[in-house]
Amino acid sequence: MSKNTHSFQAEVAQLLHLVTHSLYSNKEIFLRELISNASDACDKLRFEALDNAALYEDAPNLEVRVAFDKKARTLSITDNGIGLSQQEAIDHLGTIAKSGTREFMSRLSGDQKADAQLIGQFGVGFYSGFIVADRIVVESRRAGLPADQGVRWSSTGTGDFEVETITREKRGTSVILHLREDAEEFLNGWKLKQVISKYSDHISLPILMEKEEWKEGEDDKGGEMVATGEWEPVNKASALWTRAKKDVTEEQYVEFYKSISHDYEAPLAWSHNRVEGSTEYTQLLYIPAKAPMDLWNRDHKGGLKLYVKRVFIMDEAEALLPSYLRFVKGVIDSADLPLNVSRELLQESRDVKAIREGSTKRVLSMLEDLAKKATAAAPAAAPETPAADGVTDVVDKKEAEPAASDADAAKASEDAGKYAKFYAEFGSVLKEGLGEDFANRDRIAKLLRFASTTSDAATVSLADYKARMKDGQEAIYYITADTLAAAKNSPQLEVFKKKGIEVLLMTDRVDEWALSYLTEFDGTPLQSVAKGAVDLGKLQDETEKKAAEEAAEAFKPVLEKLKASLKDKAEDVRVTTRLVDSPACLVVQEHGMSTQLARMLKQAGQ
Ligand code: ADP
Ligand code: MG
Repeated sequence: MSKNTHSFQAEVAQLLHLVTHSLYSNKEIFLRELISNASDACDKLRFEALDNAALYEDAPNLEVRVAFDKKARTLSITDNGIGLSQQEAIDHLGTIAKSGTREFMSRLSGDQKADAQLIGQFGVGFYSGFIVADRIVVESRRAGLPADQGVRWSSTGTGDFEVETITREKRGTSVILHLREDAEEFLNGWKLKQVISKYSDHISLPILMEKEEWKEGEDDKGGEMVATGEWEPVNKASALWTRAKKDVTEEQYVEFYKSISHDYEAPLAWSHNRVEGSTEYTQLLYIPAKAPMDLWNRDHKGGLKLYVKRVFIMDEAEALLPSYLRFVKGVIDSADLPLNVSRELLQESRDVKAIREGSTKRVLSMLEDLAKKATAAAPAAAPETPAADGVTDVVDKKEAEPAASDADAAKASEDAGKYAKFYAEFGSVLKEGLGEDFANRDRIAKLLRFASTTSDAATVSLADYKARMKDGQEAIYYITADTLAAAKNSPQLEVFKKKGIEVLLMTDRVDEWALSYLTEFDGTPLQSVAKGAVDLGKLQDETEKKAAEEAAEAFKPVLEKLKASLKDKAEDVRVTTRLVDSPACLVVQEHGMSTQLARMLKQAGQ
């Protein structure tokens, strides 16, 4: 094939414009993206080679090499992974398969730093090369194809790219960046090593660079570093989760999280454990600080990557955690599953069931830890918090003892805010667990927080509420509404206000549905104040009861008339003690659909 010119898909062209014109603030991320692509390509080769060992050809050791040429001003990232066929180069490097790209475009804020981070989030990583390069050449040969079916792809990052056939002995891909003048800092071994160890230390393959030596210049001209032709690894090259906890720094845990989640904020907490017993696996689970924008999409998958004995199997393995914990990111590495496990098989596996249960418990206890820190906000309570790095230690499924910590007051108050942060982002998702995970319902209920007539902020736990209940109060009262203002001003609250009884204010769309699964908490029933005749039981004194009965008697004729004229609209009309200032209010029957739920269904067109 001679040289052919192709146009980028419209979205790519737009994206490239953006990359080359505005994203300079965090230049170095291009290297992280390209190395992670190289590593993905090696993972893919390893996986395909499970069925076809011949793909390894004569180079079974997978690796990435980073090299630079000062005179030519090029930087290259070379891997011996799966490689690209000609068609794959055209498809994968000329289009963006992911549907989120248009949304990505619409989310751009103009804030360079935030926008640069979005790029990673949308998996358009390859194009980040154009942040530092005005021309990128990709040379590749797919594993299994003959040497004369290699491909050279090249582009200046404007409207189109060229593709031609080349002969390439070596399997895999080289990405050659022709650096812009303002990116010369990357023609420096020390700088490259620093960036690689910052972002890519956890990559499980060796990342090699040529050793350099100092060479004195002639005639006082000053010396320079020159390559020796000998290659050495510049990363640790063991998958982060396979290392002992004591060998991983807090910063490395955070960077690893960022690399797998495409999030740019540090996570709120993480937990790294080797679980032994009848099912053996390693779990590294993270609670993000921020919800991804597609959390509410119906097809949002789980956030866990599955490995089997360090071989990458799949992303977004939804069988590993229940859907209400879909915000959790991380890695599960199983020692027991077969390498050829499919999504279908995963659903039925007993080992997966054990992993799912174990990981669910682990996430819930991480959340309990965060919640505990929030209540123990006073600095005096700090020693109660687990190890300051957020890592809890577990072997053999035993709960870790919270280690003493000398965290200072600043750290304690930062920790105190974490649960509120988590709850603001993911509280609504967590609530789905009431309907989804019956076995853990009590633990989930304890983690819930609500606004109430005593607190506008969603900080009241059911336990807090119970502790404040009046003598003789027999139920936890709540009201559901569209907004906090609507809830607070509901006439149905009047009698509760008058008697100083706290009522939980629920304004989340899922509350109505989720609460229908929670009929009681710690032995106390939950009762909607908008349902049925509110029986305040012992909270109502004798005179009030008597007055109500007398009123009912006295107003009987009026009630009959109202009933008759509202025949098609209301089931019943009765005298009530729940109102103080308002003349009337609507309620639904004890087991009827609430007005809030009815409104929601109507909105949904049902
Ligand atoms: P992502 O990695 O999220 O898929 P990228 O923009 O980083 O998105 O890469 C786009 C695609 O290009 C990859 O999915 C892959 O198919 C292909 N690709 C990129 N780099 C390589 C490489 N080094 N070897 C093989 N394929 C690659
Ligand atoms: Mg990528």
